[in-house]
Amino acid sequence: MTTVISHTDGKRILVRFPFDRSMVDKVKTVPGARWNATHKEWRLPLTMDTCRFLRRVFGSDLKVSTALAAWAKGEIDKALRLENLRHGYTGEEESWLEKVAEEAPDLFAAMRNRPYQLNGTAFMAEAKQCILGDDPGLGKTLQTLGALLQNNARTILVACRRTATRTVWERETLRWCPTIEPYVAQGSPKERQRVIEEFAASDAPRRMLIINIEMVRAKRVVVCPNGLGDMCQTSGCRHSYSAEYNWPSLFGMTWDAITYSPAQPITSLSGSRKPAMERIVCGSSSSRMA
Ligand SMILES: [Zn+2]
Repeated sequence: MTTVISHTDGKRILVRFPFDRSMVDKVKTVPGARWNATHKEWRLPLTMDTCRFLRRVFGSDLKVSTALAAWAKGEIDKALRLENLRHGYTGEEESWLEKVAEEAPDLFAAMRNRPYQLNGTAFMAEAKQCILGDDPGLGKTLQTLGALLQNNARTILVACRRTATRTVWERETLRWCPTIEPYVAQGSPKERQRVIEEFAASDAPRRMLIINIEMVRAKRVVVCPNGLGDMCQTSGCRHSYSAEYNWPSLFGMTWDAITYSPAQPITSLSGSRKPAMERIVCGSSSSRMA
């Protein structure tokens, strides 16, 4: 019997076992498995799906390290908390949102009058990558601002419809979150570039760049070895693809949080009109909210 050891370094799952052809074939069936020759280990995405997959593939041959077991327990606890929050106000949100209460007391007080906002804020702060689908007028902006503070986001990108940059995001941020410095990139391309540079150079403890959704669009570009691009009709010519960004500097920065606030549901946009949000780089403790 071969013992398979799964462990985590906090970024991925590492799997080791003495060489055994059948075990190699098994680990290769786990999505995302890559052999690392230098460290003589298999590396896999750190997700609960990977954990379940490994257990199914290796059964009782799989031994889980203390570190990985602790990580999995944290994930299960988090899923339970989210499930509770999903069913509505639990009464515990107030005590979880201590950063909001401390840094933005007016925002906290306003949300206490509408407890579903405390609930939504706590859910977003906990989930980190989520969609808040409340109807217009229920305070999605306030809940998002609360989650940004609670998660200690320092470099924030907000992509919203053109008409909401100043009237919604800048105004609400100035009113409710005095510790966040908003920058609105609007006007001529030159003017927008100036704001982006000013934002990048700012040493404000929390800064928010507010842009029009159009600015995060990207175009797929065909890379043809014969230099023919998307005109190439040669059969068998091996193409790869890259992206061309309208505002490359947005894709070169690392964000603590990205908020995408569309005028219409994301799913109703057709392929080429979909913004390239997933291409934007988030830091390790990042949040993405739409
Ligand atoms: Zn070609």
